[in-house]
Amino acid sequence: MPRCDWDAIILGAGPAGLALAARLASRRVLLLERQLEPAQGLRIGESLPGAASLLLQRLGLFEEFQSGNHLERGATIAIWDSEEPVWRDSLRDPAGPGWVIDRRQFEQILLNAANRRGATIRYGCQNFQVSRAAEHWSVEIEGDSTQHVAPVIVDASGRSASLARRLGVNHTKQDSQVCLHSFLIAPAHDEDTTTRILADQDGWWYSVRLASGYRVLAYHLDAKHPERLDLQNPEAFLDRARHHPLLAEVLGQTKAAEVHTRPAGTAMLDIASLDKAGPGFLAIGDAAITFDPISSQGLFHALASAEAAAKAINAGCWQAPPAMQTFKQELTAVGAHYLAKLRLTYQGPQRFAQASFWAERRG
Ligand SMILES: Cc1cc2nc3c(=O)[nH]c(=O)nc-3n(C[C@H](O)[C@H](O)[C@H](O)COP(=O)(O)OP(=O)(O)OC[C@H]3O[C@@H](n4cnc5c(N)ncnc54)[C@H](O)[C@@H]3O)c2cc1C
Repeated sequence: MPRCDWDAIILGAGPAGLALAARLASRRVLLLERQLEPAQGLRIGESLPGAASLLLQRLGLFEEFQSGNHLERGATIAIWDSEEPVWRDSLRDPAGPGWVIDRRQFEQILLNAANRRGATIRYGCQNFQVSRAAEHWSVEIEGDSTQHVAPVIVDASGRSASLARRLGVNHTKQDSQVCLHSFLIAPAHDEDTTTRILADQDGWWYSVRLASGYRVLAYHLDAKHPERLDLQNPEAFLDRARHHPLLAEVLGQTKAAEVHTRPAGTAMLDIASLDKAGPGFLAIGDAAITFDPISSQGLFHALASAEAAAKAINAGCWQAPPAMQTFKQELTAVGAHYLAKLRLTYQGPQRFAQASFWAERRG
């Protein structure tokens, strides 16, 4: 079997995998994606904190990002700890207000950078074998007669963490929250720039307008909620949202649209045991830590963990335990800080303390 040598093989061409491929510019990188082509169409996950600007600068992509179809984040109006709406002005954030991004454009910038910087990206890689021999990782892709070999393999497969789990690293799904959401066509007069967040008995909502003219309306509730299937009806979903004046104000006479569902709860790898998989195994982005959307940290973490992984790879982590240790310590600290903050967030709506959604998430 012919053999092809790489410096790193990455699984998953989402924001984390693409950011890592773009960072490893001078190296031979093979990026394997199971989808047949780059994803198109609308995708939820549009809030990017201001602190991401530093990461984008270090990636050399900030200027390109700024020229995209993104909106500066306006104020947040939250009905959370009490029934009184609380305004938080995003301009007060020391790292800057952040953005409501065009998600696909954001991913396209990362994809273009990975391509420009020489990564080989293969789509449609659904079946492959991964093994470790003679101090290398070896990947054999169905329908490809080449053996792909590298000292490093990175799981960037998103919340499924499919490679890590396959290689025996413990993975915990800590929350069965799902997100029901619609992309509504915002009326021309909808110039609202706020992000509206509110807690109710069974979960929490948010809505924000995108630069593309759509308005995201999202409801997060438990996967086993008895009304979950009923709420997948577009009219029922919009109708439920309109019960809340904070949302009704911006939804107006907007027409209902298809309701999509995505898993949206925290999930985590046991970072301390990454070595179980073998030397030179790393996990980044959602594959390492899947953040609850309430934190709006998923994309920041995708970029930050890609940066940490690039440092580890450049320091030869497969044969340098301190480099691996630094990577693991960074991710472990992020995970611990996040879980502590998340518990506090879910303790906020005391008025629903007895409701099962909140009781299960108060920690
Ligand atoms: C409802 C919801 C709202 C969100 N809102 C926000 C937000 O406002 N702000 C924010 O920052 N974050 C948000 N997030 C989180 C954000 O979307 C994720 O953190 C981000 O997409 C993680 O990027 P990733 O590259 O790690 O994973 P993904 O984006 O999931 O990409 C993983 C890639 O790996 C591929 N893949 C999977 N398995 C395999 C396999 N076996 N082989 C090859 N390829 C594979 C997938 O096809 C995909 O392309 C939200 C998430 C949800 C669910």
